[in-house]
Amino acid sequence: MLDELLAKNEHFLQHHTLPQIGHAPRKRTALVTCMDCRLVQMFEDALELERGDVIELRTAGATISTPERTPADNDLVRSLAGAIYLLGVRKVMVIGHTDCGLSHVDPAVLTASMQALGVDPQRLIEEQHLGDINGLVHWIGAFHDVHVNVQEVVQVLRSSPYLPRIPIHGCVIDINSGKLTVIDRDPLEASA
Ligand SMILES: [Zn+2]
Repeated sequence: MLDELLAKNEHFLQHHTLPQIGHAPRKRTALVTCMDCRLVQMFEDALELERGDVIELRTAGATISTPERTPADNDLVRSLAGAIYLLGVRKVMVIGHTDCGLSHVDPAVLTASMQALGVDPQRLIEEQHLGDINGLVHWIGAFHDVHVNVQEVVQVLRSSPYLPRIPIHGCVIDINSGKLTVIDRDPLEASA
């Protein structure tokens, strides 16, 4: 894969010269979404986003792992802090998607996969004080309903003591059609 990408990159460099632009997002917006491979390119196309428009942050499930929600000192909050304090972001959208892999995590598949790759799930459960296999499933970020998950992440971000109270909206994008649906419009920006 590395050699393949190096060859493709060489081809790209021969055919493209990118314009130099600044690193502050033009639309002063940060989008939080999932790492799902089906969002690659489709996400930007569906929202008609250009290079330099927005900051994109991706986590598995567009979520914050349950054990990291309360202390608010997780990597998503840290990244949004950088986006807001250093890059001028003043709006955030959390965008989950339909058919997310984290909405149907099978605990047995998870632990079997870990063991097959030489990682002991029990060690993780004990060292991270997760309690049991359900705690492990929470640690990986599993959820049942993408709408509920998006609303929960929005609430964590709106109530974070380390982030200012700026508009933070919650949406879900259809992974097949690209249709975006608003499920939690921040009253701070009612007509956004
Ligand atoms: Zn996903």
